[in-house]
Amino acid sequence: MSSSNSTLHVAILSSPGFGHIIPVLELGKRLIASNQNIRVTIFALSSTSQAESLTIKEATTAKLNVVTLPPVDISGLVDPKAAVVTCLAVIMREIRPAFRSALHDMACPPTMLIVDTFGTESLLIGEELGIPKYVYIPSNAWFLALMTYSPTLDKEVEGEYVLRTEPLKIPGCRTVVPEEVIDPMLDRTNQQYSEYIRFSAEISLGDGILLNIWEELQPTTLAAFRDEKLLGRVTKMVPVYPVGPLTRLVQSGDMTVNKDLFDWLDKQPSESVIFVCLGSGGTLSNEQMMEMAWGLELSQQRFIWVVRPPTTKSDAAFFTAGNGVGDVSTYFPEGFLTRTSGMGFIVPLWAPQVDILSHLSVGGFFSHCGWNSTLESVKNGVPMIAWPLYAEQRMNATLLTEELGVAVRSEVPPWKKVVGREEIERMVRKIMVENDGFKIRGRAKELKRSGERALREGGSSYNALSQVVSKTVQDMKIWRMNYHANENA
Ligand code: UDP
Repeated sequence: MSSSNSTLHVAILSSPGFGHIIPVLELGKRLIASNQNIRVTIFALSSTSQAESLTIKEATTAKLNVVTLPPVDISGLVDPKAAVVTCLAVIMREIRPAFRSALHDMACPPTMLIVDTFGTESLLIGEELGIPKYVYIPSNAWFLALMTYSPTLDKEVEGEYVLRTEPLKIPGCRTVVPEEVIDPMLDRTNQQYSEYIRFSAEISLGDGILLNIWEELQPTTLAAFRDEKLLGRVTKMVPVYPVGPLTRLVQSGDMTVNKDLFDWLDKQPSESVIFVCLGSGGTLSNEQMMEMAWGLELSQQRFIWVVRPPTTKSDAAFFTAGNGVGDVSTYFPEGFLTRTSGMGFIVPLWAPQVDILSHLSVGGFFSHCGWNSTLESVKNGVPMIAWPLYAEQRMNATLLTEELGVAVRSEVPPWKKVVGREEIERMVRKIMVENDGFKIRGRAKELKRSGERALREGGSSYNALSQVVSKTVQDMKIWRMNYHANENA
């Protein structure tokens, strides 16, 4: 180990996709801010997304280096119609030789390895190097609970989960409504299901699990992981560290591109604008797009809407976030743009979400409930309309509405049927102006303060990350002692 005595060199392997690299970069920044002797190298796959490349470039500093791993060609390994999770799992499997040799080639070898959700097969590389290895699940504890309990469900439950009438029970946690299970659990015969069961079981092979939440957000679920009679039994009591909420503070990129947008936003009254954005991959069908436009217009509320070409595949843009431009005017009802001129702002494909959500004029977020988007909203005290589309978003929507009380959602979810304009109008008015949305708006602000407290010195997330760092320093000292003892023997 050639790193200087006091330097901790953390290697983090990120899965591809904007929503995956963002929380990894934020974890890297947080680690560096927590201790002046920490250096971080993030290993990411090359991307064609401009937004992603820009974000990576801007996060790079003397202490945070991003190494781009060569692209892997999985065309011969997966079906052309393979699900996103299958593609991610196979990419992360195929990248291992390149990742291993990149780690071995480093002038300053890593003293700690962190992999994210899809990278658990690389924990073995940490084992080979003899360094502590952690899994970072940049999501919430209920999601982690379902994941880690899925290998057990796989043995105990017969038939498709979605066809069950009884909710799925997880020890010590909220039950999961069968139709709200995460995407890879929707069809047990699909390859993505077996990949999912494999990496869910591998999570407990790490020395610890990092989550992008804070203790006070989900205390009961976190307690279940620390109880050997509950989830602790399943995860073999591997410690779970809630270190969030980790989100970007400001957006990357050339803000002059969005000058008109921010000039307009600056002129709007406080908390009067609803922001509509469905993450890096979310899309709407043609019909839903029309209803959305009508709903926004009928609500008579100001809005900013990030618009993508309509398609029936709800995660259609996942691997191509922010690329290409279309003629958006053709997606709306006739006259929509004229009638909403001055009241609404359409942004094609991609907008600086973090800057928009943190603007004082924004008072609501129409969101697909991706976990980054959720935290970005919570961090700014902005209440939400939960519009889940894919991945674990159905569960996130339930968490936000039923447990945390910071969102409303449609009676029948948008992934089941087209939600009509009247209901969209009602939801928008509820979180923006109606009296019965008052509690939700207040709760969003409470949660913002709670997250801020957790990150402050002495706060729960601050302490959790400090624990991880001191444990690693300790392990490093033991490793050195053994190394020198062997050398002298
Ligand atoms: N995002 C953005 N502009 C957009 C769409 C998305 O900046 O127009 C960012 C958003 O701020 C968030 C990330 O993309 O950080 C999306 O991550 P999330 O976990 O919410 O959803 P995913 O895209 O992974 O489904």
